[in-house]
Amino acid sequence: MIIVLRPDSTKQQIDHILDRIRDLGFKPHVSQGTVRTIIGVIGDENKLQAEPLSAIPGVEQVLAIQKPFKLASREFHPGDSVVVVGGRVRVGGGSLAMIAGPCAIESAEILDTIAGAVKAAGANILRGGAFKPRTSPYSFQGMGEEGLKILRDVGDKHGLPVVTEVMDPRQVAVVERYADMFQIGARNMQNFDLLKEVGQATKPVLLKRGMSATVKDLLMSAEYILAEGNHQVVLCERGVRSFEDSTRNMLDMSAVPNVKGQSHLPIIVDPSHATGRPDLIPAMARAAVAAGADGVHVEVHSCPEKALSDGPQALLPKQYAALMSDLRRLAEVMGKRM
Ligand code: PEP
Ligand code: MN
Repeated sequence: MIIVLRPDSTKQQIDHILDRIRDLGFKPHVSQGTVRTIIGVIGDENKLQAEPLSAIPGVEQVLAIQKPFKLASREFHPGDSVVVVGGRVRVGGGSLAMIAGPCAIESAEILDTIAGAVKAAGANILRGGAFKPRTSPYSFQGMGEEGLKILRDVGDKHGLPVVTEVMDPRQVAVVERYADMFQIGARNMQNFDLLKEVGQATKPVLLKRGMSATVKDLLMSAEYILAEGNHQVVLCERGVRSFEDSTRNMLDMSAVPNVKGQSHLPIIVDPSHATGRPDLIPAMARAAVAAGADGVHVEVHSCPEKALSDGPQALLPKQYAALMSDLRRLAEVMGKRM
């Protein structure tokens, strides 16, 4: 249920409404728009409907949200949400996240080379996995905390906030210590305990779509994070499994406008994991920006043939730089900043 406040409602009235909601045993979520404030109240609608909330001064309307996701819905927050990463990089509301880096952190030297190159090309967030969700238990599993330290140092050196994957609720504290943004990978999109744990953290979350998840499933997973109080969520379309076997996954570009119609959350596209093919990544990255995505996430490696993870899909720094120069022109046409 959402409580729409009158444009002239006072702070005292808002505080009174929040107290009333807490007294009833619910947790209020406040969405501050430019014109008006909306309070989301999640819980047993029957219990709430019995309360004459619309009679409280300052309240304009009390509405039920029809969708199964509430805090993620456009009804709760009609404007586009902007997520701020590392205290300075804005994602959404016209600002594009240009996330780039290797699949895995392999050494300080390699990450430093890649970070310098992607920064020079215009990337604004550095990525790199320290905990890797590998299909085989015999494949490189990531450097763990040592990798997180390298990521932090290299990010700081190049002035780039950093994002890295967290796979388990027990890793949330250590990842939060080093990273500016959590990544929840496709394989963990419905790891509800993990979603609740990052929902209680204070850093933003990049939530990737599961490989067999619907757009509604993705928004329901975002809802888990929002319901815990962390409203800093960026969604990521990274392709879904299909019968097509010439690409790693099938990129569902319609998810971008589809999500935007239903939710205020920013959504970016990862053409690297979606296609698995460097020859297709640039076209899909351009299509993402043209479709209205709030950013692009690309894997880049200085020597893909030696990469310990996802080498075959990595762009070379020079390929990434060429792509970024196209994306800059496209962003201008779309009225976006990057
Ligand atoms: C990754 O970003 O390296 C990754 C494993 O992505 P996904 O979870 O989308 O497969
Ligand atoms: Mn990868």
